[in-house]
Amino acid sequence: MKNSASTVKEPARTLPVALETDVCVVGGSCTGVFAAVTAARLGARVALIENQGFLGGVATAGLVNVWHSLYDITGERQIIAGLTQETLERLGRRQAVVVRDRKDASVYAYMNTEELKIELDELVAEARVIPFLHTRFCAAIMDGPRLTAAVIEDKSGRRAIRAGMFIDATGDGDVLVRAGLPVRVADVLQPPTTCAIIQGCGELKRADPAFHLEKAVFDPNHPRGLRHAFGWSAPVVRGKDLTMAAITRVAGVNCADAADLTRAEIEGRRQVRSMLDVLRDRPAGDQVSLVGLAATIGIRETRHAVCLHQITEMELLHGTPAADVIGCGSYRVDVHHNGRPGITFRYLDGREEVMEDGGWRSGRWCPPGTATATYYQIPYRALVPQGAVNLLAAGRMLDADPGAYGALRVMVNCNQTGEAAGAAAWTALQRNCGVAEVPVTEVQSALRRLGGLPALN
Ligand SMILES: Cc1cc2nc3c(=O)[nH]c(=O)nc-3n(C[C@H](O)[C@H](O)[C@H](O)COP(=O)(O)OP(=O)(O)OC[C@H]3O[C@@H](n4cnc5c(N)ncnc54)[C@H](O)[C@@H]3O)c2cc1C
Repeated sequence: MKNSASTVKEPARTLPVALETDVCVVGGSCTGVFAAVTAARLGARVALIENQGFLGGVATAGLVNVWHSLYDITGERQIIAGLTQETLERLGRRQAVVVRDRKDASVYAYMNTEELKIELDELVAEARVIPFLHTRFCAAIMDGPRLTAAVIEDKSGRRAIRAGMFIDATGDGDVLVRAGLPVRVADVLQPPTTCAIIQGCGELKRADPAFHLEKAVFDPNHPRGLRHAFGWSAPVVRGKDLTMAAITRVAGVNCADAADLTRAEIEGRRQVRSMLDVLRDRPAGDQVSLVGLAATIGIRETRHAVCLHQITEMELLHGTPAADVIGCGSYRVDVHHNGRPGITFRYLDGREEVMEDGGWRSGRWCPPGTATATYYQIPYRALVPQGAVNLLAAGRMLDADPGAYGALRVMVNCNQTGEAAGAAAWTALQRNCGVAEVPVTEVQSALRRLGGLPALN
C-alpha cells in the first residue's frame, strides 16, 4: 500500500568499501556468471553480486531446467558455443544433463539445476571471481554520468564496491534505474510463473494411460482447474518420477514493482496448490506430492534498457546480419499471453502457431516462398544503454521489441549477452573508452579466443 504523504529522512553516511575491482557484475544468473567469468578469463579482477545464496537466477531459483538449441534450425550449423557449451559439458561429466535434439524448437537439453548451482560455484572459483552471495545491490554512486561504486546490503551491513566497469545482469535493470538511465516497460509484459517439482505423475499415468499433466490441470470442468490454457513440464534429470511443472501464470503484474512482486509470489503458489488439488482428484492422486517449489517466482519480463539499438521482431525473424554481432540464436518467438489464455509462436521458417481459448491456429508470419533465415544475430548495440559510460546491460533487460524479445529472452541467448558484456567491459578498460566507443571487432576476437561466437559467413 502506498502512502506518498509520509517520508523519513535517511541520514547521509560514509560507507566502507568492501572491494575495489576492475569489473563489478550485479546479478548472478548464468548471464551474470558468464559475464564475470569471461571478464576474469580475459584478465580482469571481478566482483559478482547476487541476492540469493546461490547462483543461476531463473534456472536455479526458478527451477527452469531447459536450454534450447546451440544449432541453427537445420541442426547442421553450430551457432552457440562458449560457456553455454562448456557448462553443458561440465554437467554432462556429472550425468546432470540430457541433451536431446539439435532441431527441436522446444527442448535441446534438460539440466539438473541443483547440480547447476554447484557447477556455477566452481566456474566462478576457478576464474577467481569474487562472489558476494545473499547480497543486494541497492544504490549507485555516480560521478556525473560515470558509475563509480555499487552500494550493497548484506549481513555485514551497507558497503560499497568500487569498479571501473559495471554490468547490470539483474534481469530488472535495477542498476540502470539507480544510475538514472532510461528504462522502458512494455505495455503488455510476458507474465511470471511459479514453477514446482511434482512427484507422482508417472503413477497417475500408470493409473490412467490417457493422463496428460497439462490437459489435466487446465480441465475446464474441474472447479480448481487453471484457466490460461498453456503451460509446459519437463522431467527432472536423475529424478525418480519427478516432473518440473512450469504451468502457473500470474496476469497483470510488473515484478519490478514491490507490491506486484509480493502479490505474484503468493498467487503463483496458490495456483500450484490448485494444480495439486486437481491432480489429487485423479486415480492414484494420493501418490502425488509437492517436492520442490521455486525459491522465487520465475519472472519473464520487466524493464528493458533503452539502448543504442532496439532489436525488432522482423529484423530477428529475417536473420538480419549485424556488423557488431556478439551472439546468435535460433529459438522461436515465444510470447506467453497476459490476461488471456494461450501463447504465440513464430518460427524462423515462416510458420506461426497461436494458441487461444479455442485451441491451436496455424498460419504464417510471412508469405510462402519468402526467403527466411536459419538463425538470427544479436548486436552489441542492444546491450549499450543510451547515456552510459561504464555500464552495460545483459540478459533479459536487453533492448528488443516484444516479438524479438519473445525469442531473445531464453537462456542460451541471455548467456551470450553476458559473455559479450564481460568481454566488452574488459575491452573498454583496456582501451580506456566508454561502452559506446568499444571497438566491437576486439570484443568479437576476445569471445572467439575464449571459444564463443562461432565464425559466421
Ligand atoms: C517460468 C519461466 C520459464 C522459462 N522457460 C525457459 C526455458 O525453458 N528455457 C530458457 O532458456 N529460458 C526460459 N525462460 C526464460 C529465461 O529463464 C529468462 O529469460 C532468463 O533466465 C533471464 O536471465 P537473466 O539473467 O536476465 O535474469 P534472471 O535469471 O532473472 O537473473 C537475475 C539475477 O539477478 C539477481 N538480482 C536481481 N536483482 C538484484 C539486486 N538488486 N541485487 C542483487 N542481485 C539481484 C537475481 O537474484 C537473479 O539471480 C523462462 C522463464 C520463466 C520465468
